[in-house]
Amino acid sequence: MRKIPMLTGAICCMAIGCLVATTNASLAQTVNHTAVISAAVNKTEAKVIGWRQDFHQNPELGNREFRTAEIVAKHLQSLGIEVQTKVGVTGVVGILKGGKPGPVVALRADMDALPVEEKGNLPYTSKVKVNYNGKETGVMHACGHDGHTAMLMGVAEILAGMKKDLKGTVKFIFQPAEEGVPPGEKGGAALMITEGVLDNPKVDVIFGLHLNSQLEVGKIAYRPGGTMAAVGTVKITVTGKPSHGAKPWSSVDPIVVSAQIINGLQTIVSRNVDISENPAVVTIASIHGGNRDNIISEKVEMLGTVRTFSDKDEKFVYKRIREVATKTAEAAGASAEVLLPYEHYYPVTYNNEALTATMLPSLQKAAGKDNVQLAVPNTGAEDFAFYVQKVPGLFFFLGGMPKGQDPAAAAPHHTPQFMIDDSAFSTGIKAMCGLVLDYMDMNAK
Ligand SMILES: [Zn+2]
Ligand SMILES: [Zn+2]
Repeated sequence: MRKIPMLTGAICCMAIGCLVATTNASLAQTVNHTAVISAAVNKTEAKVIGWRQDFHQNPELGNREFRTAEIVAKHLQSLGIEVQTKVGVTGVVGILKGGKPGPVVALRADMDALPVEEKGNLPYTSKVKVNYNGKETGVMHACGHDGHTAMLMGVAEILAGMKKDLKGTVKFIFQPAEEGVPPGEKGGAALMITEGVLDNPKVDVIFGLHLNSQLEVGKIAYRPGGTMAAVGTVKITVTGKPSHGAKPWSSVDPIVVSAQIINGLQTIVSRNVDISENPAVVTIASIHGGNRDNIISEKVEMLGTVRTFSDKDEKFVYKRIREVATKTAEAAGASAEVLLPYEHYYPVTYNNEALTATMLPSLQKAAGKDNVQLAVPNTGAEDFAFYVQKVPGLFFFLGGMPKGQDPAAAAPHHTPQFMIDDSAFSTGIKAMCGLVLDYMDMNAK
C-alpha cells in the first residue's frame, strides 16, 4: 500500500553503519552551527512570537487560510526566497537555493485552525466566528499550527541569512488543511504532493514537528519507525432474518450476532497482535439496528476505526477483522459484509529509522541531551504521513506546556482551553535549523 524507504534488511543496516560514521564526523563540523543558530534565534524569537499571536487571533479553517498564506508569502518574498502560492488550494512553497551544491531539504508547517470556540482571556484569544456546516462556530488554533507556521517563518529568515554558505536547497512547505477539508473539497499534504510539492527540485528528505500541549517547554520527543497511527474505518453490515420479538427462534437475530462479532473483535488486539512490537486499536464506535422492542430486525450496521503502526500490522488486523466478522456471522446463519477500509484517512507517520538515528544529535543539540526523550506511539494521526510515504522523513514533538505544570492538568489538543506557551518556539526553531544544516553537512555534494 505504501512505500517506506530504507526499512528492511541489509540496505537498512548498511545505511545505519554509514550514517553513524558520518554523524560522528558531522558533530565536529556542526559545533559552530549551534552558536550561530542560537544567536540568530535570539534575534528572531520576538518576531516569531508576534507572528504566532497574530495567527492565533486570526485563525482560518482548512483550505481557507487566505490571510495566513498571504502573510507567509510576503515574508518569504521579503527574504529573497522564490515563492509559489496556491499550491494545494492555499499552500505556500518557498525555495531557498544555497550558494553551494547539496541536497534538497524540505521543512513543513501546517497553517489551519479548528472549529473550536476558544475559552481563554489572553490578549490574543480568538474571537473569530464562521459559518461551519450551516452553524455559527468559533474558530481556534487549538492544535498549535499557528506556532508551526510562525516558527517556520523564523527558520526561513535565519536560513535565508545564511544563503551563500548553505550546502543545498531548502524547500519551505506551508501546508493548508492538515485537519481536514470542507465536504467535497480536496486538500492537505496529499493534494500538495499531487501538485508536485516534492518535485522541482526533487526533495531528498523532509522534517516536520508538532507542538504538544502536554509536554514541557524545552523538551523534544521523537520515535523511530511508526510514530503516529494509520487510520482506516470499517463498516460491517450484518444481515440475519427478521421475526417477531416474541418468537426469536424464527429469526436469525443480527443484534445478537453483532454483539458476538464486537466481542470477537476485541480479541484481535488482545490475542493476535504482537503488542510487544506495536500497539493497535480496533474500536466499534457506532451500531445501529432495529426500531422497536418487539421486532427482530433484518440488519445491523456498525462503524469503527482501526489504528495501526506498520503496513504489516494494518494488513494483518484488517484480515482478522474480516475473518472474525464473516465467520462469526456464518456460524450463526447470518452474513456479514465487511467494507475495510471503508475510508482510509491516513497512512502511518513513519520516521525512517536510519534517518532518525542520524539526526538525533541535531535534536539533542537544540534542546540539550537530557531534554530529548523517546515518545510513545501516538494513536492519533497526521497527514505528514503522506510525505514520508514518498521521501525519508522525521516528524517530532515539541514541548509547549508551561514549565512546572502537571501534564494531566494541561488542556489537550482540539479543546477550548488548549494553550501553547510563547517560550516553546526557540527550541523548535533551533531544531529545524540544526536539522537542515547538519543534514546538508552530511550530504554535501
Ligand atoms: Zn490537530
Ligand atoms: Zn495538528
